[in-house]
Amino acid sequence: NVSRLLGKTILITGASSGIGAATALLFAKAGSNVILVARRADALKSVADACVAAHKESGVAQGGKFATIQADVADKEQVASILDKIPSDLRAVDVLVNNAGQVSYPRSDINNLLIPLRRFVKGIEHIGDIADADVEGMFATNVLGLIRLTQIFVKEFKARNSGHVINLGSVAGREAYAGGGIYCATKFAVSAFNGSLLKELVNTPIRVTEIQPGMVETEFSIVRFRGDTDRAKTVYDGMQPLVASDIAEEILWVASRPPHVNIAEMLIFPVNQA
Ligand code: NDP
Repeated sequence: NVSRLLGKTILITGASSGIGAATALLFAKAGSNVILVARRADALKSVADACVAAHKESGVAQGGKFATIQADVADKEQVASILDKIPSDLRAVDVLVNNAGQVSYPRSDINNLLIPLRRFVKGIEHIGDIADADVEGMFATNVLGLIRLTQIFVKEFKARNSGHVINLGSVAGREAYAGGGIYCATKFAVSAFNGSLLKELVNTPIRVTEIQPGMVETEFSIVRFRGDTDRAKTVYDGMQPLVASDIAEEILWVASRPPHVNIAEMLIFPVNQA
């Protein structure tokens, strides 16, 4: 029942594209307030404008307050400053969606990775070839950013005795595949952190959820192939990937369960993947 989301405030990292942007739009339509965080200010502004329009169109009276915060979650200081940048009327955040994430692959022939991405075949080795900056970028964003922001908001949630942390993991955090060692390691870390947090917060009203998507067509593969959109498209050849709104709908559903229900984890595949 999405009426539970009326007037709630949701903070979403990585809200400038893909799953984060689609999630912001759905919460806007559901009558929530949304704080959008990412590095690209212009892209954030477009999503926020679309949220305003979607809220208006929905005709829902509650919610409709939107704020954008330009921040790199890989940067410790910038993460620490997010709370202070939230407009005072949106300070009481109800749901934190840790969605910002990135994937980059080694410099050598990344076409070889198309098959393992889908089928998890063995025998492709790229661990020795990945740039150190990519290793650091993925860990700083997917893991450290998520951990630090969670630390900040769990403190807030404890003080208010309510709240919900929703972390974006991945199928890559359940089953490692050849060629994706670093990304898989970051998502296994997310899963371990989520599981631990869930147990630490048991018997409190604070909920903890991990969303684990399979292949979703977003800007993710464009980032993966460093802006090469044609190459990005080939990842999905012969299959029908999920779209960002498929995952956004699950996030909305998870956040709108009755307060005593905690969806601990959710694995979502397109029908072509298993
Ligand atoms: P997109 O590339 O479309 O979106 C990623 C978002 O994260 C962008 O808004 C980007 O914005 C933001 N972001 C990246 N790095 C940083 C950073 N350092 N600081 C702040 N924001 C950052 O990809 P998706 O929507 O597909 O990915 C969202 C999440 O879903 C990720 O955690 C990803 O691992 C996970 N996922 C995706 C899958 C897929 O197949 N697409 C499968 C499984 C999980 P900006 O560049 O403006 O900072």
